[in-house]
Amino acid sequence: MNAAVAPLGADRPILRERGQREVFCGLTGIVWLHRKIQDAFFLVIGSRTCAHLLQSAAGVMIFAEPRFATAIIEEKDLAGLADANEELDRVVARLLARRPDIRLLFLVGSCPSEVIKLDLARAASRLDKSTDGVRVLAYSGSGIETTFTQGEDACLAALVPQMATTAETQLLIVGSLPDIVEDQFRRLFAELGIARVDSLPPRRSGELAAVGPGTRFLLAQPFLGDTATALQARGAVHLPALFPFGAEGTTAWLHAAAKAFGIDEMHFRRVVAPGRERAKRALERQAKVLAGKSIFFLPDSQLEVPLARFLANELGMVPVEVGTPYLHRGHLADELAALPDCVVSEGQDVDRQLDRVRAARPDLTVCGLGLANPLEREGLTTKWSIELVFSPVHGFDQAGDLAELFARPLVRRDLLAV
Ligand code: SF4
Repeated sequence: MNAAVAPLGADRPILRERGQREVFCGLTGIVWLHRKIQDAFFLVIGSRTCAHLLQSAAGVMIFAEPRFATAIIEEKDLAGLADANEELDRVVARLLARRPDIRLLFLVGSCPSEVIKLDLARAASRLDKSTDGVRVLAYSGSGIETTFTQGEDACLAALVPQMATTAETQLLIVGSLPDIVEDQFRRLFAELGIARVDSLPPRRSGELAAVGPGTRFLLAQPFLGDTATALQARGAVHLPALFPFGAEGTTAWLHAAAKAFGIDEMHFRRVVAPGRERAKRALERQAKVLAGKSIFFLPDSQLEVPLARFLANELGMVPVEVGTPYLHRGHLADELAALPDCVVSEGQDVDRQLDRVRAARPDLTVCGLGLANPLEREGLTTKWSIELVFSPVHGFDQAGDLAELFARPLVRRDLLAV
């Protein structure tokens, strides 16, 4: 029994729980990161379990030349740590010889005790010096006390020290977005008149942005706390805003940049009006299915608070409980202020939380893969939260698709009930 209620920011109480959790680990981030950074390779230093996780998480994607792999380390490999390091050097040398297209190699740590004993940061800096033209970095995708989106945070935070220093005034979009969505945002920023816009992560490692006191950054994802701290330490300034989900969230996110760059208010409204209208029209259709329906978020992707705000304020859904693995008060301040009355919980004690789900019997429960099937068996309608990270959901033109991801299970339930 370790739940506690504590006040937060705009006097919203937060239910904090610590107990058994049901989440994927940070290795999962490789599934979308390897698609984003096109000349990067992710070498997981892990166990057979890690290899299985990656294979099943990414199993739907068949590549002639995959850009991730697992170097399996077993207890016997650690008879001498020196040997393990030599073996790692051999694996990396073989990989780079076979794949001259790799320009950025991430050594991704995992949580088995055998791997924790290896100093991967040191191994990366050793390999970085010895591999010509290939940058080697390390980060942890471990599942100990983390959730799956933190893999992206750790990866991006590892890139920040590699960014050159600049005093130039520029906007940085932080967070991995599908290229098509990133291009839409870049077009809007260009129309607004913001001349210099960069993204972290870049599409190719050679395009890594510079950073400095003239950098203003927008977070595209709410789970990038370490990356934001690392950027701030380089002098960059965070622009607080709602996250760009739905017509309202996207408008507020763009507006934060427009204000910081001194864009005229009337010009801002003219530029965003067409996209905002398109989003609103697309949402009207989905609101017919979603309005008045109750929704319960179990903690998983860390997108829960912004998504609940979007679903409540733009589609009329009724959040019962919004659970999130970790709550960054600063980055989510605007979201929490805009979220209607409901329970917000941080962390998880899965049995207690499932009891609350059963008591509330919400129309829709958003949860991880492991919980979805048992809940469906109990007659509850579920949505897999991991899909929300894999799908293009940010921005005006994806608002309708985002809403549809929540409408679809409800429509399917009604069809099955007929
Ligand atoms: S990193 Fe840890 S939690 Fe993730 S697959 Fe490997 S062993 Fe499992």
